[in-house]
Amino acid sequence: PMKQRLLVVANRLPVSAVRRGEDSWSLEISAGGLVSALLGVKDVDAKWIGWAGVSVPDEVGQRALTKALAEKRCIPVFLDEEIVHQYYNGYCNNILWPLFHYLGLPQEDRLATTRSFQSQFDAYKRANQMFADVVNQHYQEGDVVWCHDYHLMFLPKCLKEYNSKMKVGWFLHTPFPSSEIHRTLPSRSELLRSVLAADLVGFHTYDYARHFVSACTRILGLEGTPEGVEDQGRLTRVAAFPIGIDSDRFKRALELPAVKEHINELTHRFAGRKDCEYLMMIIVILSETLSSKVMLGVDRLDMIKGIPQKILAFEKFLEENPSWRDKVVLLQIAVPTRTDVPEYQKLTSQVHEIVGRINGRFGTLTAVPIHHLDRSLDFHALCALYAVTDVALVTSLRDGMNLVSYEFVACQGSKKGVLILSEFAGAAQSLGAGALLVNPWNITEVAASIGYALNMSPDEREKRHRHNYAHVTTHTAQDWAETFVSELNDTVVEAQLRT
Ligand code: UDP
Repeated sequence: PMKQRLLVVANRLPVSAVRRGEDSWSLEISAGGLVSALLGVKDVDAKWIGWAGVSVPDEVGQRALTKALAEKRCIPVFLDEEIVHQYYNGYCNNILWPLFHYLGLPQEDRLATTRSFQSQFDAYKRANQMFADVVNQHYQEGDVVWCHDYHLMFLPKCLKEYNSKMKVGWFLHTPFPSSEIHRTLPSRSELLRSVLAADLVGFHTYDYARHFVSACTRILGLEGTPEGVEDQGRLTRVAAFPIGIDSDRFKRALELPAVKEHINELTHRFAGRKDCEYLMMIIVILSETLSSKVMLGVDRLDMIKGIPQKILAFEKFLEENPSWRDKVVLLQIAVPTRTDVPEYQKLTSQVHEIVGRINGRFGTLTAVPIHHLDRSLDFHALCALYAVTDVALVTSLRDGMNLVSYEFVACQGSKKGVLILSEFAGAAQSLGAGALLVNPWNITEVAASIGYALNMSPDEREKRHRHNYAHVTTHTAQDWAETFVSELNDTVVEAQLRT
């Protein structure tokens, strides 16, 4: 039988494109969760539609890039620099991202740009229309169109205006905030109405789905039902689809000779290889300390991740537990993000300042308690680090899901380390039985959990790990994608039966 065609529409294509000449491009696929999720979905033939992350003003370049991308099953949407500035940096990252993570609408630094709210919102709609145009050009009858994330809340409406028969799903990868937060958004109603044009609307957790339904009932005055939102007899199905990871990819990685060697080096802390500069650095770090326990944080350096709160909690732990001071090290991988934005620059220096102060306070001639690296790691080094960690510390103030917590669990098959997890990460809904859940704002509680985790008996660690591991290995990214797509097909069939 013919496979069903799936058009996956997301702001960014899963490739990075570098221009090599007038009509030549080199492409690298980024193996994120979404890519491997969709590769694993049986019986669908998926194509990607999105922005390639580069500005290509000339037609020769556009044609060459389109051709190169086609081989990777990708279709580009070309956005010029001005629209990227207004739509992506402006409306998406300066307005929607902070609002959906409960940081509120712009104040102080960000306020200057808020005066251009209306022009940013117009650019947002225009950009969404450009995505819709490309989808429409490639759409064939029977295709499923799956729109992703807060960048494309206008897309379902644009698509249905082209063709009301199109099967359209929309999934949000961030939290959806309480309706009291969403209410503050000047474009609150228009955004909700355009999302409701989809047949199926999905979120990571029941709470986010409930918040969305409440926003529709309270702000739009529509009827919320257990199935979704009803508007004059038409139902938009709303449900929770918690994403997972490709846990096999992590398990396989741990079996690779290179990764095994990394793990061995990290465990025995000898610096034998010269080909892996950052790993050398980490090995040196770990061998310089007398530490017997490794705590790990892996986050983009974003306000939502609660990195200062995490570090302050670690400080409190050291303060209260002098005997641990030379026996534990916190390794924080802080992946740079949006480095051109003043607020993010401020966060970076704030974190550096706290780290410096604590290291000055508790460091010795031979050891410092916190190692903070402003950089990303490649997949294999990350897996090795996950595998040798004793305690992972995830203190997001808000986080749609948080995949780092899942990846850590997937790599802990032999170590069975402890996960300390913020109750404000979506992952807390699924890993709550195995992790130590904390309120990241409560430094006292987080510090106590660090102590509890470091002293936990092997029995309890084993039991907690088993819970988490069972979840992470049975609720995979593939399952997530398959469930969403089949639910979308079912929803459309049911709607046809009703009319
Ligand atoms: N990650 C990475 N390189 C790094 C550190 C992290 O590719 O150096 C990946 C990590 O494996 C995970 C993702 O970045 O898949 C972070 O996802 P998460 O859901 O935890 O947070 P987000 O950054 O999406 O807010």
